[in-house]
Amino acid sequence: MTVTRRIFLRQSAFATGSLAAAPAVARTATDDTIPDQPAYVRLAVSGELDERVDMALSVLERCTLCPHRCEVDRRGGQTGLCAAGARATVYSHTPHFGEELPLVGRRGSGTIFFSHCNLRCVFCQNWPIAHEGRGREVGDHRLAEMMLELQRRGCHNINLVTPTHVMPNILRAIRLAERRGLRLPIVYNTSGYERVEMIRLLDGIVDIYLPDLKFMDGEQSARYAMDGVGDYPETTQQAILEMQRQVGRLVIDSRGIARRGLMIRHLVMPNRMAGSKEFVQWVAENLPLDTYVNIMPQWRVEHRAFEFDQISRAITPNEFLEAMDWAREAGLSNFDQRSLAAESVFRRRAS
Ligand code: SF4
Repeated sequence: MTVTRRIFLRQSAFATGSLAAAPAVARTATDDTIPDQPAYVRLAVSGELDERVDMALSVLERCTLCPHRCEVDRRGGQTGLCAAGARATVYSHTPHFGEELPLVGRRGSGTIFFSHCNLRCVFCQNWPIAHEGRGREVGDHRLAEMMLELQRRGCHNINLVTPTHVMPNILRAIRLAERRGLRLPIVYNTSGYERVEMIRLLDGIVDIYLPDLKFMDGEQSARYAMDGVGDYPETTQQAILEMQRQVGRLVIDSRGIARRGLMIRHLVMPNRMAGSKEFVQWVAENLPLDTYVNIMPQWRVEHRAFEFDQISRAITPNEFLEAMDWAREAGLSNFDQRSLAAESVFRRRAS
């Protein structure tokens, strides 16, 4: 889809944007359709990438980048709920080997961890970065250089961790880096709390979407994430449908490396607080059954989770196993390798 300035302005920042229905059925990608270069290179050649960058940067002047719609002038020095300014703050940029295996390959996923967050869950495992904003402020040229450094180090992709509130900076950095030879796929690694209108702006730029779907009940998202995000389930679901429309099923090349597509994460929580059954049912009903799903067992009582009775303990093996059972009953078939390994261990222990 070509996003023109007129379409963008009409659909997004300054209008009271509705979550316009995105088609749930995506085009099917196959090995035959693996592109020989990332999507943003084509947009750069056509000149459209420049236009997207300008559109995104304009949003910072009255920030409606995410569903909070703070309408603060970040270029003028104001900050909103995410606490981010006009420049990105980066905690680290490094090859990472703890991500999903199709992202890691042999040489690692080139992660750039952005500080601050627009969701800030009480159980955040990265709370010094996301809640406290630890990191170093960088200009877009430096951000572009980080991307190129990760490419020089042999990483398989640029993995943007918590990118939502700095998306315009990222787009500008991609444009700068592309001119200097960046050719790695872009991974958009997000909490999922996104505006559909902003995700549309990334159409043809992001190759791999890696959203969380953390909660399926607004009562739980309002309790365990930043105040006022009772709309997390519906908002994130709409964003994921748009991601699926853009990139479709995950495509992996002959080396086992992800090249394009959608990968969804879901962390199992104690006492079924994440709504894992509803999660797998939603995926099964709205996305292809072979959508790549990472059902994660690595719940930890982190940050302020100990203040909440329902989540101040580890998950039991059964809580993880029932989530995997529900996923299979729903018909899902494409599971993360580490989910399967954890399942195997838990089942052996239970038998
Ligand atoms: S990105 Fe930050 S400032 Fe902008 S709307 Fe979201 S929370 Fe508010």
